[in-house]
Amino acid sequence: MKVGIIGGGAAGFFAAIHVAENFPEAEVVILEKSSKVLSKVKVSGGGRCNVCNACTDIDELSKNYPRGGRQLRKIFGIFSTVQTMDWFEKRGVELVVQEDQCVFPKSQNSQTIIDCFRDEVLNKKIKIRLNAEVIGLENSHGIQLRFSFGDSEKFDKVIVTAGGHPKAEKLNWLKQCGHEIILPVPSLFTFNMPDEPVKNLMGIVVENALVSIQSEKLEATGPLLITHWGMSGPAILKLSAFGARLLADKKYDFKVQVNWLNQRNESVIRSYIQDHFLKCGNKQISNCRLSEIPQRLWDYLLEKIGLPSDKNCSQLSEKDKNKLINILSNDSYKVSGKTTFKEEFVTAGGISLNDVSFKSMQSKKVKGLYFAGEILDIDGITGGFNFQAAWSTAFIAAMLKED
Ligand SMILES: Cc1cc2nc3c(=O)[nH]c(=O)nc-3n(C[C@H](O)[C@H](O)[C@H](O)COP(=O)(O)OP(=O)(O)OC[C@H]3O[C@@H](n4cnc5c(N)ncnc54)[C@H](O)[C@@H]3O)c2cc1C
Repeated sequence: MKVGIIGGGAAGFFAAIHVAENFPEAEVVILEKSSKVLSKVKVSGGGRCNVCNACTDIDELSKNYPRGGRQLRKIFGIFSTVQTMDWFEKRGVELVVQEDQCVFPKSQNSQTIIDCFRDEVLNKKIKIRLNAEVIGLENSHGIQLRFSFGDSEKFDKVIVTAGGHPKAEKLNWLKQCGHEIILPVPSLFTFNMPDEPVKNLMGIVVENALVSIQSEKLEATGPLLITHWGMSGPAILKLSAFGARLLADKKYDFKVQVNWLNQRNESVIRSYIQDHFLKCGNKQISNCRLSEIPQRLWDYLLEKIGLPSDKNCSQLSEKDKNKLINILSNDSYKVSGKTTFKEEFVTAGGISLNDVSFKSMQSKKVKGLYFAGEILDIDGITGGFNFQAAWSTAFIAAMLKED
């Protein structure tokens, strides 16, 4: 049996290694369009490669995928984070789990993961063909692949692991054989706020904020970082991922609401503030920040609502307190544009999940054709979830099961 793997990235290598393991007699060929393999693995996680997440609860794990979580649940039952960590550790890659549950190689170097894959590929005699871009596919007694340099070649089975593509046209060759392509849009980006003076507070982190898109149901919680171009941090990245399509429709022009205390209940905030100021007595309000709000942000918020920073806490009127409650729980910023998050960014969209069987990862349109990795309309938030989707889908695809 001759098996072609289209794309020499994370999913492609993982799939090729498992095909070779499952079918030792098979000839396995990785077809890579560029002159380099595993280039995203190399730069991933800021060069450290956040290889997966330590979350082991499948329900919890699948909640980290704005698209594809429901479908992934099925395959996480077979290959999940536990199996990923076990797989790398059995091959001599020591792993460490950070406090935030992100898993990295102990070496803190993505090259360790690349070396592990290279050893496996060498041992299993998997062939790698570089500068081999696939541009066409025909299904007749096997799968005939057409390359950009003019040649074509027949394979018995093919796994497509060609990654995310920002332009849908790049997937035309898969559309032509019947697959629906969900329009690609970026996911995992930070918010630009060119007209908001809050940018001057760059470097400030609020540990637990609640952010939402004005007039929409979307919201996310977690640390929020103020940057020199706007806002970033896990809460914003999560919001960008879950809102990827909606925010693209809005052309990245919208208002973000910030609840700096992550507390929805106004009466809870009111009594919290009242108790706080009671303890502050006659001190100036500027010297009486809430512990959750860094000093520079506190001063900025007081200025934003026009409260003099030297006003005595005991002299705050009900109106002053209402303004404070409002800005702490319902602050608003205008977003104009986005910046791609350099540590990890992904494309939402790709092959429609309706066209793929999640028992086998086989295409419902072309027999003997399988999909894995980011080419699918699956994406996760930051934290190793995107690689996990690549490993899990590749593991299942490599079984080359017929439905
Ligand atoms: C800067 C950055 C950092 C990241 N860090 C992390 C991280 O730490 N943790 C995490 O979980 N995720 C991270 N991600 C996301 C993660 O890298 C991807 O989700 C993952 O690489 C997807 O794997 P893949 O094999 O599906 O696609 P890719 O890794 O993109 O591989 C696809 C391969 O297919 C090739 N190809 C494409 N079209 C064709 C064709 N027609 N013919 C032949 N070859 C083709 C491409 O050249 C490429 O080599 C990061 C992403 C970026 C951009």
